[in-house]
Amino acid sequence: MDCDGELAPVALAEVAHEVPRRAKGVCSEFFRCRGCGKLYWHGTSWERIKDRLGRAAELARGGPISSEGPTG
Ligand SMILES: [Zn+2]
Repeated sequence: MDCDGELAPVALAEVAHEVPRRAKGVCSEFFRCRGCGKLYWHGTSWERIKDRLGRAAELARGGPISSEGPTG
């Protein structure tokens, strides 16, 4: 993670020439950083990618997600 750009899902067919063969075999989801153009997939700092995607989802909903379950 060299920048804090937005990650956009991309199809394997679009990035097949950039993906190592070993990654093609084990990964089905790929993401392109809109900030630096770097390609990410499951296995490359995936926990941090999930964190970024999670934060993006929070922003899309208009606020932080409560960690508390439903009450009552
Ligand atoms: Zn980037």
